[in-house]
Order: sequence, then structure tokens, then C-alpha cells
Amino acid sequence: MDLPFCPKPSPLQAVSDAVTERAGVQLFVKRDDLLHPTVSGNKWRKLKYLLQSLDPADSPRLLTFGGAHSNHLYALAAAGAALQVPTVGIVRGEEYAHPARETSTLRFCREQGMELHFVSREHYRQRHDPAYLQQLQSTFRATLVVPEGGTTSLALPGVRELVQETEAQLGYRPIYYAVAAGTGGTAAGILSAGAQVLAFSALKGGHFLEKEIEELLPPETCVGTLQLFTEYHQGGYGRHSPQLLAFIQKFEQEHGILLEQVYTGKLFFGLYDLLQKGYFPAGSTLVAVHTGGLQGRLPGL
Ligand SMILES: *Cc1c(COP(=O)(O)O)cnc(C)c1O
Repeated sequence: MDLPFCPKPSPLQAVSDAVTERAGVQLFVKRDDLLHPTVSGNKWRKLKYLLQSLDPADSPRLLTFGGAHSNHLYALAAAGAALQVPTVGIVRGEEYAHPARETSTLRFCREQGMELHFVSREHYRQRHDPAYLQQLQSTFRATLVVPEGGTTSLALPGVRELVQETEAQLGYRPIYYAVAAGTGGTAAGILSAGAQVLAFSALKGGHFLEKEIEELLPPETCVGTLQLFTEYHQGGYGRHSPQLLAFIQKFEQEHGILLEQVYTGKLFFGLYDLLQKGYFPAGSTLVAVHTGGLQGRLPGL
């Protein structure tokens, strides 16, 4: 399927302040938050080849999963509307079916024409169970189930383009790419380009990501090395702390780059903590990937 939108390479922006200078490190931000107004950041990278692989002759109808604030649901709803491909969203938490509980993300999805179906957390936990998926697929007449976060093997080539763009812009390979991790699909894509990745878990107990990321990578290929940081989750997925919000505000004021509290705020919070602890040898070049998600930024942050 031809995609009606094909964003230009996102900018690579140098960021320098007292912390990076003291660490003697060159920091760049890959501004994937600027890729597309609605299918932003890593969701565009991950969905690109999956959407291209759809054949209009099959009358595709996509079913996917997400929470009430999911950037993936948001992106897939927008992409589906643009491509005139119907979409169904299975939403975690029956309480969100109540109009008073509708989040701005869910409202947007509904306005884009996504059919929303609310399930209990217990049902949602079965989202990887083949029998449950089969049942959902037939109930909703879906031609394809897109896993949570849009993370499939088709996500990897899209994410690799981020690496190719960055290295063309920079003229060389940075020592590290730093990225926030939810399902780990973005980290896996960067690794599959052979680069070294620092992944910052947005969830509590993020150790499981190491295995998930490994499973996404094609076997017997030469991939980069992963360092996973699991201590910067601030209480868990979707949770935040006063320190995190204060950090975000300071970063935004200093650099004019907006962050949000679910993913990119935790990434930069963790990265700056490592910079301050002297984790990186002086002279290192780091590229932090701004994966977007600004629609989920806390109002009034
Ligand atoms: C979904 C999302 C992530 C997590 O990406 P994964 O590939 O699932 O690890 C990171 N940042 C933002 C802004 C996101 O929306």
C-alpha cells in the first residue's frame, strides 16, 4: 500500500549545557518528535513497513492493543484514517468505556474512526495468547493483529532508517544511541543496525526487556550491544516523581525541546544522571532519540 505521507529525515540537534560540558561529551538529539504531527516518533518508524505491506485488495482491517494513554493506539488510529484502513483498538481497562473517563488519546482515536473495545486487565493480559487473538480476530473481522506498541519484526527496518539518517547527518557512527524502552522494539531496531544502545526502561521491573529485545532480533546476525537501565522508571509505567517533572521543566527551558513524563523524560533524566556520574569517557558522542509521544505530555507540566 502506498503511504500518503513520507516524512523527511528528522533533524539532528546538538545539545550542550553545563552537564554535557563537564562530562566532555557531545550530545545530539534525533528529533523524531518532529517526524509527523500525529504518527509521531518511533510509532511512525515501527509502523511504516507494516503499513506498506498491506494490500488494499485484501480489504485490510487492523486490530491492536493499548492503554488509555497509548501513543501506539493514537498513531495507528491516525494512520488508519489516512490510509482508509479500518482499525480496532482493544483498550486495557473497562472503566475507560465510561464517557466521563474518556482520555484525550481515546477521544482522538474514536474521532479518527478507530473502533474501541474495552477489556478487563485480566483479559488484556492474554494479548499474546494465540487462542485469544484468534477469537478477537474473528469477533472483529480483523485481517491482521498488530501487537502492542506496533512492535513486530517489520518494525526493525523502519527503525534502522533512523540510524542511517543519523549517521548521514553526523558523518560518523556515535558511540551510543540512547532510547526509552516500553516494549523494546525501538531499541531492537537500533541494535539491528549494529549500533550500541543504552535503553532506559519506562516500566518497573524492566529486566524482562533484555530477553524480549533479543527475541526480536534476527538470529545469527551481527547486532550491536545493549545496556539496559531499569532504575529510572520513577515508580512504574505512567508514574512520575517531582524530581522527574522538575528535570523536564529545566531541560525544556534550557534547550527548547519538549519532553513528556512517560518515556522521553525518563530517558533524559537517566542519561543526565549517568553523565553526572562520569559514566561516559570524555570525547564520547551520544545520540539520544526523541521518540515523540508529546500528545501524552502532562497538561501544564
Ligand atoms: C511507544 C513509545 C516508546 C517505547 O517504544 P518501544 O519500541 O515500545 O520500546 C518510547 N517513547 C515514546 C515516546 C513512545 O511513544
